[in-house]
Amino acid sequence: MAETPYFIEVEEALKICFRTKIQTETELTGLDASYQRILATDLHSLVNDPPFDNSAMDGFAMRYEDTTNPPSTLEIIGTIQAAGQEDNITVGPGQAVRIMTGAPMPKGADSILQVELTSSDDSSVILQKEGMKHFIRKQGENLTKGQVALKAGTFLTPSRIGLCATMGHNSIPVVKRLRVAIISTGDELKQPGDKLERGEIYESNSFGLAGLVKWLGHHPVRMHCVGDTLDSLRESLNTAAEDCDLILTSGGVSMGEWDLVRKIMEDEGDVHFWRVKLRPGSPPLFGLWKDTPIFGLPGNPVSSHVVFRILVGPWIRNATSATGPIEVRAFAKLATTVKPTKDSLTLRRVTIETTEEGLVAHQKIHQGSGNLASIAYSEGMAVLQPEREYSIGDMVEVMII
Ligand code: AMP
Ligand code: MG
Repeated sequence: MAETPYFIEVEEALKICFRTKIQTETELTGLDASYQRILATDLHSLVNDPPFDNSAMDGFAMRYEDTTNPPSTLEIIGTIQAAGQEDNITVGPGQAVRIMTGAPMPKGADSILQVELTSSDDSSVILQKEGMKHFIRKQGENLTKGQVALKAGTFLTPSRIGLCATMGHNSIPVVKRLRVAIISTGDELKQPGDKLERGEIYESNSFGLAGLVKWLGHHPVRMHCVGDTLDSLRESLNTAAEDCDLILTSGGVSMGEWDLVRKIMEDEGDVHFWRVKLRPGSPPLFGLWKDTPIFGLPGNPVSSHVVFRILVGPWIRNATSATGPIEVRAFAKLATTVKPTKDSLTLRRVTIETTEEGLVAHQKIHQGSGNLASIAYSEGMAVLQPEREYSIGDMVEVMII
């Protein structure tokens, strides 16, 4: 391991792991299944949006010049509720048409007044105000045909799925979900639901990590936990490398003799870096196992979560050319003291309150790296630079959980 980068800054670690690329594939998915997928190509609009001039209000359509001295009384010459009904209508001087929201504008009319500002009977309408030209939604004012409305790499949120539909696409080219193997290691680990014997704990990391993988739109493959033996670990890594695009292990990457992930990677894998200036979460390693990228995450539950957010998530997004926004950071005012560490980027778990003066961050929960509640009960992680002083009232960057 002599020349393996060791105990490096987060930026350096990202730079190193970003050098490892993977081949992504594109597949087509239906609109309904496209939530949280990543767009694989630019998406052009197949139509103008709106496709035709239409009314933004339920009300009346007429010539603006007939409305400039309200109240104005106009003759009602028809009703337009749906496309086609405007075909035989031309609004002339002194005339108006009853019109519904979204219905096509009739010829001759250049303004709308909403129904609330009118009174009418079957044959005439009294307009209390001038007609409004801006209540006409113009053809192509939102999107023009051929326009690239969503770029490759876009993470498909609900409104973006709606936009795909507005553009006329029913089949969306997306990046094939990465299959991410998750292997927890440790003799002491039991599955939730089983009975704990003395010295055992419930395995939680693979479940939390699987959630994080899904949050990024990919496919977690939770493998059986492996005990602390090289043979079982090797077998599991080989299976994962065959079947998956990325391997995440948890546990066994620290300095001890029994930290077998580190040991097997040193002896039989290819380590690109080990240990990062990050707290919690300093032990991780990154490298290749049989040409498949692998992150060795620490076993402490908070640490594995933090390392995912700081290293694994950015790597996955880089590898799939995914663009934001999914990772939200903001600034909040400190209501309690928070302690940075001397040489590492430190993430303290904080609750975040929204006040009239802005966001306020409190560190309320004990910050042990085994205390998963410190993340589960928090809304953010304060990102503290090494050796800086942080006092109550200071603005601090927080990563929203
Ligand atoms: P390790 O990194 O293997 O030394 O583990 C560090 C600590 O995290 C130990 O207290 C382990 O029991 C705990 N731990 C390891 N893996 C898991 C896991 N998958 N779920 C919950 N706790 C774990
Ligand atoms: Mg262990």
